[in-house]
Amino acid sequence: PRRLIVVLGDQLDRNGPLLDNIDPQRDAVWMAESVSEPTGGAVHQQRLVLYFAAMRHLRDELRERGVTVHYHAADDADSPAAIDGPAGRLAADLQRLQPETVALMEAGDWSIEQALCDVVAAAEATLEWHRDSHFLASREAFQKWAEGRKSLTMEYFYRSMRKRHDVLMDGDKPSGGAWNFDKDNRAAFGPAGPGELPAHPAFEPDAITRGVIDMVHQRYGDHPGDAADFNQPVTPDQAQIALDDFIRYRLPEFGTWQDAIWVGEPLLYHARLSTSLNLHLLDPRACLERAEAAFTAGDAPLNAVEGFVRQILGWREFIRGVYWLRMPEYADLNALDHQADLPSFFWDGQTDMACVADAMSALLRHGYAHHIQRLMVLGLFAQLYGAHPYAFHEWHMALYLDSADWVSLPNALGMSQFGDGGVVGTKPYCASGAYIDRMSNACGQCRYNPKEAVGEKACPFTTFYWDFLDRHEDQLAGNRRLQFQYRNLQRKTDDQRAAIRRQAETLRARMGTT
Ligand code: SF4
Repeated sequence: PRRLIVVLGDQLDRNGPLLDNIDPQRDAVWMAESVSEPTGGAVHQQRLVLYFAAMRHLRDELRERGVTVHYHAADDADSPAAIDGPAGRLAADLQRLQPETVALMEAGDWSIEQALCDVVAAAEATLEWHRDSHFLASREAFQKWAEGRKSLTMEYFYRSMRKRHDVLMDGDKPSGGAWNFDKDNRAAFGPAGPGELPAHPAFEPDAITRGVIDMVHQRYGDHPGDAADFNQPVTPDQAQIALDDFIRYRLPEFGTWQDAIWVGEPLLYHARLSTSLNLHLLDPRACLERAEAAFTAGDAPLNAVEGFVRQILGWREFIRGVYWLRMPEYADLNALDHQADLPSFFWDGQTDMACVADAMSALLRHGYAHHIQRLMVLGLFAQLYGAHPYAFHEWHMALYLDSADWVSLPNALGMSQFGDGGVVGTKPYCASGAYIDRMSNACGQCRYNPKEAVGEKACPFTTFYWDFLDRHEDQLAGNRRLQFQYRNLQRKTDDQRAAIRRQAETLRARMGTT
């Protein structure tokens, strides 16, 4: 080919700058399936199915249109899946194919982008570079916004995006007179539970996806999860159906229950559109338009629509901006100097903590846990325990279907583990078992007591919560947003604090690492 177009597994947008004016006479497309090898575990089987099935659907669509696709499949005997990125395989193919031009688009991973650019430069081909138009804020626009600011506050970025893109605005004022309705979005279900929940759509695997499921069983059958449970969208049409379903059946209640947890109900009213968004099967603009239209038509209340819009137009764009602004140093940040490996139940779910067992069972079953289980159960535990923030990020990359480097580093290493020392958040997310007790029904089914920090029934969250504050007192006691927590810690006697330290040490030894 004269022009070789490199399409990565999370660049599957049919109308994006890579594929929108393809000429089958002159151009060829290049794609490669790739598997990463995280420290301490392996990639979820359904994550492999998602990426490979979605890529193979695009490959076949392009071939039907007469486009040549050079494709490396994981089960191709001559070209097994590339380990940790596609650059090595591209280098070999550039030698063989000798294209004049190689088209690349901004990637979702700093190291992969660097490696691909290096490979193209080494092959002495002309690089045709494209911005990723999937995102509403370009890397440069975010940089400009961040310039000269002492701290990066998501809320201010979000307001600027609402204004610029005219989303939920009444002239220059926010709809409903406020930018944020979080106070309405923190309800818990109460003893009666959530009642009947709307079913989430399931996408029956077609022949291509079934082929991938069989291949994953055969080659990666010892990886976490079960490929046979896979039911996510793998084409833009399916992603559109998933969006329609959310807007119609779950968006109206989404806001109210977004922070609630109920054992055995891992999906609740959540959108679960992140896999489609992050593979670029779904356009964020379509999500915003549909949500706003539901509000305008009176089909969904403002607290729900604003909460959803904030995720898409605010958080998602903000963390991508932070990633590109702060990479590559960002990946090495470890502000609290946490060094522990993750306990083995982060991979196999085997634990007697009811809240963690429930979140892990969702994660192993679906490759998904909703926002509050991620942040306030699994993320919170890892942080209180003292897990290394990069190890936590690697784990997050391996087990969640929707993770990508650009989204996981700021969210997992940054916001959840406070590894960045306050770039994306202003304080560590620290809470005791009491928070989980308030937001869920897990504690009633658990052998531990969320109110106790020492003794046989002590809740590990509560023990590690006090131990966390105690260990980091010098570093964190001055943080204004932790005043309340530190006042309570300082009320404890030296003996009480020593007993908590001992209990935490015993627990750590029992959980198997440092
Ligand atoms: Fe989780 Fe502690 Fe509650 Fe058990 S008691 S469910 S470990 S918060």
